[in-house]
Amino acid sequence: MRALLALALFAGSLATAVAADNDPWKLDDQFKALKPEDLKDAEGTKPPEGAIVLFDGKDFSKWVKRDGKSEVKWNLRDGGVMEGVKGHGDIMTKEKFDGSFKLHVEFRVPYEPAGKGQGRGNSGVYVQGRYEVQVLDSYGLKSGKNDCGAIYNLHAPKVNACKAPTVWQSYDIEFTAPKFENGKKTEPARMTVSHNGMVIHEKADITIDNTTAGLGGDPATPGPILLQDHGHPVQYRNIWLLKK
Ligand code: MG
Repeated sequence: MRALLALALFAGSLATAVAADNDPWKLDDQFKALKPEDLKDAEGTKPPEGAIVLFDGKDFSKWVKRDGKSEVKWNLRDGGVMEGVKGHGDIMTKEKFDGSFKLHVEFRVPYEPAGKGQGRGNSGVYVQGRYEVQVLDSYGLKSGKNDCGAIYNLHAPKVNACKAPTVWQSYDIEFTAPKFENGKKTEPARMTVSHNGMVIHEKADITIDNTTAGLGGDPATPGPILLQDHGHPVQYRNIWLLKK
């Protein structure tokens, strides 16, 4: 009986040790990179002259919760980083944007080897709060319309440009808002997206007014930049926007 108890205690402490070692920002030896550069952070781009700095790592002063009024309580981490907090909800910029602009975002997804499909490092960058460029751990997959870099459920990325989980990646999104005349849409929203410097969408027409879980609203009006809480501790840094 005593031996059994000791064994149970030992097994218990072993399980704890394994769990404590399970750092989502560290790859283990089960992980196989396809090529060495997939393990190297994407180059960060400093905000150019005239850019609006939306997040520089210091605070959430430019951000608010999705309800438009509550304070953001995502985590601030060392190195100018913000991290999604499960259940806290989406966050968005206080400022709303329209017309044409370039948005730069750096992000990284945690290493969640037990997760599958949409359950690994899921978040998203919603332009005007309506059009999601998906953030997900899609490393090494044949990218579909719901994978990392996809304009969600509308356009798969032309190539899978993902880096390994835990490695910093970048999106450069050139966006033009839809155009309207007398309340009728005359041109759809368009996006050219570079993922880690590779073009994954080129002047892609966004033929719908809202992708899944977007803010919606009148597509003829300005909208914020929104970051999705999909229950994973996805991290972001160095977010800026340059109006054209
Ligand atoms: Mg998402």
